[in-house]
Amino acid sequence: MIYKNHKQKIELIKSGKISLKQNVADFLLNIKKNEHLNAFNFVFEDSASEVDLIERKIKTGKHGKLAGMVIAVKDVISIKSKPLTCSSNILIGFEAVYNATVVEKLLQENAILIGKTNCDEFAMGSSNENSAFGKVLNPVNNDYVPGGSSGGSAAAVAANLCDAALGTDTGGSIRQPAAFCGVYGLKPTYGRVSRYGLTAFASSFDTIGPFAKNIDDIALILETISGNDNFDSTFVNSEIHSFSEKISSERKFKIGLPKEYFSDGLDDEIRKIIFEHVEILKNAGNEVTEISLPHTEFAIATYYILTTAEASANLSRFDGAHYGLRSKNASNIDEMYKFSRTEGFGEEVKRRIMLGTYVLSSGYYDAYYKKAQKVRSLIKSDFDNAFKEVDIILTPTTPTAAFKIGEKSENPLEMYLSDIYTTSANLAGIPAINVPIGFNKIGLPIGMQLLSKQFDELSLLQLANILSTN
Ligand code: GLN
Repeated sequence: MIYKNHKQKIELIKSGKISLKQNVADFLLNIKKNEHLNAFNFVFEDSASEVDLIERKIKTGKHGKLAGMVIAVKDVISIKSKPLTCSSNILIGFEAVYNATVVEKLLQENAILIGKTNCDEFAMGSSNENSAFGKVLNPVNNDYVPGGSSGGSAAAVAANLCDAALGTDTGGSIRQPAAFCGVYGLKPTYGRVSRYGLTAFASSFDTIGPFAKNIDDIALILETISGNDNFDSTFVNSEIHSFSEKISSERKFKIGLPKEYFSDGLDDEIRKIIFEHVEILKNAGNEVTEISLPHTEFAIATYYILTTAEASANLSRFDGAHYGLRSKNASNIDEMYKFSRTEGFGEEVKRRIMLGTYVLSSGYYDAYYKKAQKVRSLIKSDFDNAFKEVDIILTPTTPTAAFKIGEKSENPLEMYLSDIYTTSANLAGIPAINVPIGFNKIGLPIGMQLLSKQFDELSLLQLANILSTN
C-alpha cells in the first residue's frame, strides 16, 4: 500500500490520489491471491457496496474517523446477518443476529468490514492449528504457524489483506500472533472495550483489541472501540483519551525489566534484539531498571486452571438444542446433548471442558480453583507493586519466534508454555502491546511486549511510538 497510516490514506482519498473503490478491490484481489494462507473463514465480496457513499463522505469532510479503513474481524465476534462460527463445527451454519458493540462502533466511524478471520476453535490455542476451517499459514514463511488464537487476523494484516483487524486476547491471543507475524497487536485493559457480541471463552479474562501495521492506527481503533456500553456489565467507565492525538510525546518513561522474563527459557536472538531496543530507549532519555515479578512462574498453571473452569461453564450453552449443530444420530434427548457436543467440538475444546469440569468438581474445587484464585491475586499485586516504581514493564512477547506447523500440536503442555509471557497481563487485567522489533537469522519476526497499569494504554502507545520513530 502506498500510505503509511490511516490518516494519510484519508488525505490521499480526499485529494483523489487513491480511489477507495480500487483500494477495496485490491484488498479483495490480494485475499484471493493469498487463499493458501487460509486467513479468512468468510470474505465479504459485497464490501464494496458502501464504498461510494464513504468516499463521498470523505471528499466532503463529513466522514467518521475510520472512514474507508478496511478491517477484518475475528470469527468469534458477531456481525449481524453474517456467519459466526468460532472456527467450530458446532456453529457451522449459524448467523449472528446482532452486531457486537465493537462492530457497531467501527461501522459508526465508517470502517469497511471485509471478512471474518480464521482462529483457533473458540479462541483456544496458540498456533491456529485447532480450527474446523483448517490451519492458517504464517505469511512470512509458510512452513511456520502464525500464532494463535487470532492467527487469521494477524496473518491478514501482515500479508496486506486488510488495513487492520480485530482479535481477542484471553491469554495472549492478540500479542503472540502479532509477534509471530511481525505486526502491532494491543490487548486493552479488562473493562475498557465492551465484549457484547463476543462469544465468551473465559469471561474474567476475555478482551477485544486491534492489529495493525503501524501504531497510529492501533491508537485510532482503540479510541473508537473503547467507551460506553450498557450491554457488558464488566465495562468500566474510564476516560477515553483521544489516543491518536496524544501518542507523540516528549515524556520520559521509567521502564522495568522483570528478571523472571529474561531467564533461561528465552531464545538468545530475541534477548539480543530486545536489549538493542532497550539501548535505544535509554539513549532517548528513558530510565531502565531491573524489577521482579516474583509469582511469574505460577502464571501458566493459574491461567489454565481458571480459564478452563470458566470455559467449561461458558461452553455449556452449545448443546444442540438452541443453535448450531444438532446430531442426527441421537434417539433421545440425552443422546442429543451428548452426540451434538461430541461431534461438534474439536479435541482441544473437549480437553479444556474436561479440565475445567475437573477443577470445579466438588472434591477438587478448593485444591485447584480456589487456590488459583488466590494466586491470581498475588500475580496482580506483583504488578501493583511494580507500577509503584515504574511506568512501563518491558518483556519479550514470546520465548521463541514462530514454530513450525505441527511442531507442538501433539504436545498440549508444550503449546501452553508458549504463552508464558502473555498470560500474566490477563490474570492482572492490565493492558499490553506487541511491538514488532526485527527478525531473527532465518527471517522470522520478533516481538517485544510493553505492559502498563490498568487504563494506561496511552503510555504503551507513546513508548511504542518512540520506538517506531527511532
Ligand atoms: N493461547 C492461549 C490459550 O490457548 C490464549 C488464548 C487466547 O488468548 N484466546 O488459551
